[in-house]
Amino acid sequence: MDRKLLSIIIPCYNEEKTVETIYATVTDVMTNGQCDYEILFVDDGSKDYTEQKVCGLAQKDRHVKYYSFSRNFGKEAAIYAGLNNARGDYVVIMDADMQDPPALLPEMISTLESGEYDSVATRRVSRKGEPMVRSFCARCFYKLIRRISDADIVDGARDFRMMTRDMVNSVLALSEYNRFSKGIFGWVGYRTKWLEYENIERTAGETKWSFWKLLAYSLDGIVNFSNVPLMISSYLGILMTFISFVAIIFIIVRKLIFGDPVSGWPSLVCIITFVGGIQLFCMGIMGQYLSKTYMEVKKRPHYIIQKSNDEETEKNK
Ligand code: UDP
Ligand code: MG
Repeated sequence: MDRKLLSIIIPCYNEEKTVETIYATVTDVMTNGQCDYEILFVDDGSKDYTEQKVCGLAQKDRHVKYYSFSRNFGKEAAIYAGLNNARGDYVVIMDADMQDPPALLPEMISTLESGEYDSVATRRVSRKGEPMVRSFCARCFYKLIRRISDADIVDGARDFRMMTRDMVNSVLALSEYNRFSKGIFGWVGYRTKWLEYENIERTAGETKWSFWKLLAYSLDGIVNFSNVPLMISSYLGILMTFISFVAIIFIIVRKLIFGDPVSGWPSLVCIITFVGGIQLFCMGIMGQYLSKTYMEVKKRPHYIIQKSNDEETEKNK
């Protein structure tokens, strides 16, 4: 029987302290394993020695391929680049910082080999070791997005996931510019098995996610997978029209019955500021969708690969 090929995609941004550890561990797990493998390091414009390190690994070991971006394009772009260049029958995405245990790989492969599932996904059951504010915000975000979106987005889901070639091709068919992988994986469907594990803290280096990056990421998730904010803005518009209609009748009737005492200045100011606030809020929501649409129609590439040891990629440049 033909041995299957597994592509292991590892996005790296300033991971000079971790790439060698993850390389060694993955190699250890995969040597003499159930399938052949290739490791694809996607260097997302790192400013440290990540590129030199993965380049060194690639010279030593023919299993290693690397793709170096011309600047930092973000983890989503790195994942997309990996999926685009992976040739495996199975493809897995994992972080460079050992938060995704390579020891799970054999179990994931067996699950896919059995043919019962098309994808093995992972979620962490705890957020141990994470700052309280961050895990609170993350929880709220997942509650919200699960309510307002039709894609199945699981709380605590990681990007650590192994997929069959069919599923990868479906994911690649969604070539949108603003990518939110957790939503895309849920949206394409397929039979998915979930593995759960306790949060593992990163081995070295530090998290690349600032508060603002996380906020932008969650907004991307909401705008990409839900129209509910737009609906809220139209419902608010309808509600305000109704309220003002009632108020107009009330004011006219009062004038006809009680004459015209000069009063009502405070209520006037309240109404003007209230309505103004709602209008700005709704325009902001529309602006969010408009700006995403603007980025989509420009059809810019998701990333630019400046350097790589993959001949095929270099040829197609
Ligand atoms: N990463 C990336 N580009 C970025 C930010 C992060 O490729 O702009 C990679 C990073 O190197 C790591 C993975 O994405 O392999 C997850 O990042 P991190 O560990 O910082 O996130 P956390 O685990 O804290 O959510
Ligand atoms: Mg991490």
